[in-house]
Amino acid sequence: MSNRRRFIAGNWKMNKTIPESRSLAEKVREALDGFDAADVAVCPTFVALAAVADALRGSRIALGAQNLYWKESGAFTGEVSGPMLVAAGCKYVIVGHSERRQYFGETDESVGRRATAALACGLYPIICLGETLDERKKGVTFEVVKRQMGSAFSAIGPDAIGQVTVAYEPVWAIGTGVNATPEQAQEVHRFLRGLLADKYGAAAAETVRIQYGGSVKPDNARELLAQPDIDGALVGGASLKAEDFAAIVRSCTA
Ligand code: PEP
Repeated sequence: MSNRRRFIAGNWKMNKTIPESRSLAEKVREALDGFDAADVAVCPTFVALAAVADALRGSRIALGAQNLYWKESGAFTGEVSGPMLVAAGCKYVIVGHSERRQYFGETDESVGRRATAALACGLYPIICLGETLDERKKGVTFEVVKRQMGSAFSAIGPDAIGQVTVAYEPVWAIGTGVNATPEQAQEVHRFLRGLLADKYGAAAAETVRIQYGGSVKPDNARELLAQPDIDGALVGGASLKAEDFAAIVRSCTA
């Protein structure tokens, strides 16, 4: 187990109406009342950000968004910018989620632009990457995540590195109920930290939190979080139930 402060984020994806989001946020807040042993964030849909910000006000739970566009404003129908997210109360923003890459044409290059834009307006990006099942079977996992890291971090300087979280999310483990084993995840996390060390130096790399994502549940979280380079989790399905999400967060106190 590392001594980096753990960070658990809930990715609510395209789930919950505004009242449902408010209610879930209230339940998460209640379930984690008084808890301060890890950083926690929830990432509702864009339309629910204001309601969830309201429900979380004064709590230790931070707000995150699920994406952003790299321009500040203008004729970009359907997009939402970093400054808009800041104004809505966001601290974090997820970029490069595999569902964005798979269904909405995001590329390594566009993920890098989003990450850089997030940092420029003071947001803390959670940069997602990970291999598909096919890539794992072909034995190219390390090559793939190295390429994804290279693009995502291409314009991120050493001063900003402390603001970044990396989320290793093997695509074959997302929403499938099949999580990577703690050993499989640790192996990639270690590799990613090595890449960060190559670019930013070992000391800086040691400060970056690397979350694991992919079917994290209350019954597997503790084992995953016990690995030396797993500093938290990005939680999809299980973050939609306040008790399950809170149980995962509490796994941080090993
Ligand atoms: C995710 O969406 O980032 C994710 C990890 O989903 P799930 O926990 O449902 O696998």
